[in-house]
Amino acid sequence: MSAKIIDGKAISAIVNQENADEINKLKAMGITPGLAVILVGEDPASQLYVNSKVKKCQELGINSQKYVLDKNATMEELLELIDKLNNDNSIHGILVQSPPPPQIDEEKVVEAILPSKDVDCFHAENVGKMLIGKEDGFFPCTPYGVMILLEKSGIEVSGKHAVIIGRSNIVGKPMMALMVQKNKNANATVTCVHSATRNLKEIVKTADIVIAAIGKAEFVTADMIKEGAVVIDVGINRVADENAPKGYRVVGDVKYDEVAEVASYITPVPGGVGPMTIAILMRNTINSCKRHNKID
Ligand code: NDP
Repeated sequence: MSAKIIDGKAISAIVNQENADEINKLKAMGITPGLAVILVGEDPASQLYVNSKVKKCQELGINSQKYVLDKNATMEELLELIDKLNNDNSIHGILVQSPPPPQIDEEKVVEAILPSKDVDCFHAENVGKMLIGKEDGFFPCTPYGVMILLEKSGIEVSGKHAVIIGRSNIVGKPMMALMVQKNKNANATVTCVHSATRNLKEIVKTADIVIAAIGKAEFVTADMIKEGAVVIDVGINRVADENAPKGYRVVGDVKYDEVAEVASYITPVPGGVGPMTIAILMRNTINSCKRHNKID
């Protein structure tokens, strides 16, 4: 079998067109959604992520504010900035790019952001709402992006066995929560495997849908995949490549070429889940703006 490619660029373009339409409606009412992105330090990968979020805001007409704090910035300085943005009516979404330097307590940062502006869906209030299936919080950008990829690719999730590899608070756990919800686009039977799992390979091989989010380059190989399974690769890993202009190339958590021979559908890296994450971030910011302005 040769897998069909799930084109995240094309599907995110559809979501972003919906985003643009919503923004135009808001602008006609004199309202502009605003997103504040905070970066502490100069981590090159983080800079890249922050810049691509700001660029997408600019393309769509979202007011983006980028704050770059020194790598030695204190918790107090960061909390002061968050407090200012919490109280700024022109800002509807606030995010602090991960990972911050060690003096920054990420948990405290997440707690400091107003839940109504927590467009990443990291705050316990929003995570709880997502878990019980309430829609008045936010859905987390990457896992929800995966749900939209599946839906817009016409892949039935209901009744399928989904195996999620990885249990981080950002990807694996919320991915489980979204896949198991009792609604027509979810309804999966969910298994999550992680570093303490015994027989990981055998369990993954039972999956109809595999979602890999472990941060290990090309970890998932063809012998772990059932013929015809759907494979979603969340991983973004840099591997050294002296033939590449930058000295490295970006690969996922899935050994793409060989897994594509076994799977029915597969996401590429780059160009799969990545663009969806940003599109959902934009959508969350727009939804937050509508709520803050009491627009249905
Ligand atoms: P984390 O490092 O926070 O979590 C990795 C998870 O994988 C952990 O649960 C860990 O288990 C598990 N794991 C690690 N090694 C193994 C192993 N050998 N066998 C089984 N399980 C293992 O990563 P994230 O969830 O934040 O990110 C995962 C990947 O997704 C990364 O490549 C990241 O760059 C990418 N990513 C991509 C995004 C996108 O927009 N496309 C957005 C966010 C992340 P344990 O809990 O036991 O330690």
